Amino acid sequence: MSLSIGNRLEWVRQSEIRNMSIECEKYGGINLSQGVCDLEVPPIVVKGAKQAIDDGINSYTRYDGLNELRQAIAKRQKIFTGMEVDPEKEIVVSAGATGALFSAFFALLNAGDEVIVFEPYYGYHTINLVSTLAVPKYVRMTPPDWTFTRGALDKVLTEKTKAILINTPGNPSGKVFSLEELKIISDFACKNDLFIFTDEIYEYFVYDGRKHIPPAGLPGMRERTIMVSGLSKTYSITGWRIGYCICDARWSTAIGYFSDMLYACAPAPLQMGVAEGLMKLTPEFYNNISRDYQKKRDRICNALYTAGLTPYVPQGAYYVLCDISGIPGDSGKEKAMHLLKTAGVASVPGEAFYHDAAGENLTRFCFAKEDAILDDACRRIESFGKMNR
Ligand code: PLP
Repeated sequence: MSLSIGNRLEWVRQSEIRNMSIECEKYGGINLSQGVCDLEVPPIVVKGAKQAIDDGINSYTRYDGLNELRQAIAKRQKIFTGMEVDPEKEIVVSAGATGALFSAFFALLNAGDEVIVFEPYYGYHTINLVSTLAVPKYVRMTPPDWTFTRGALDKVLTEKTKAILINTPGNPSGKVFSLEELKIISDFACKNDLFIFTDEIYEYFVYDGRKHIPPAGLPGMRERTIMVSGLSKTYSITGWRIGYCICDARWSTAIGYFSDMLYACAPAPLQMGVAEGLMKLTPEFYNNISRDYQKKRDRICNALYTAGLTPYVPQGAYYVLCDISGIPGDSGKEKAMHLLKTAGVASVPGEAFYHDAAGENLTRFCFAKEDAILDDACRRIESFGKMNR
């Protein structure tokens, strides 16, 4: 037989995040590798979904999502960022932020188009770009605050550059782009007539009094920005697959068609549950996210310092990248495995977030865990530090 698997598989290597979860189970460790929050789903969201099933909302929905959910997204966006969004024409509900972003890439990019990606990056972003035959071009950010320069953007610009991807707050760095930085990007995007894809899935996870700034809100940006977000993280419903994009009506129909082709629709009753949450949860619910997760961030960063490691304290999201150059091993993977075998805590080796070897002295911990589990992991990290002194 001469049949074989298609070429695309070469680009989609088994994610290191999944690999570390498998290793973690093997060694009976605490899994701080996967970005899965194990916290309670808001009861009102659960109730809304159950009610929808009982009410018979179990069929395919309109290709761009149920009216109730699009209305609720527009209302929430207005309250949170002041942005006016037309729920009829400017929102596409899809299978998670992942589905929305993938559909947007399919709808707006051609083979060979170059997309500027800030590094360290979230692996799905680059793999999805490559899968649509676009070409990621990397701009490296510098720790501890993950800064970049206008010069670095100019350096990667070619006549093939079509877009920039911004993930704020970012995975894995926790980077929250400041107004000054977004002005640099918007000036660059407007001058060179580029699309902006944003991934704002961690919009409510910001620390130390910072505010999330949607790039679409800057002058000249609304019409060129495909703003992507979802509720996976905010409501701890990663398995529900509810996300969306907000963009100018010129782009939304095409994005919706691709979302339809790839996923048909997001799960109908779960759309209703999320709509209930968006309409009824109070501003306090969203404020508490930052307060609660900042405590978790401080707990793990302190444990890492105590163990003699150097965390780059995140400004947002729920991951911390940590310098592990002092741990034995010739690569990030070996160092992360050493940590797993001796401390019993799984993390994701830094190479997963860079296109070259730049991540070999880094590893990423996810701190979206119940306090008891996080405490246990932190105690293990602290005793690992004592053993190595
Ligand atoms: N975007 C980023 C930056 C993420 O870290 C994740 C999950 O880890 C996602 C998107 C996935 O979002 P969704 O579950 O809505 O597809």
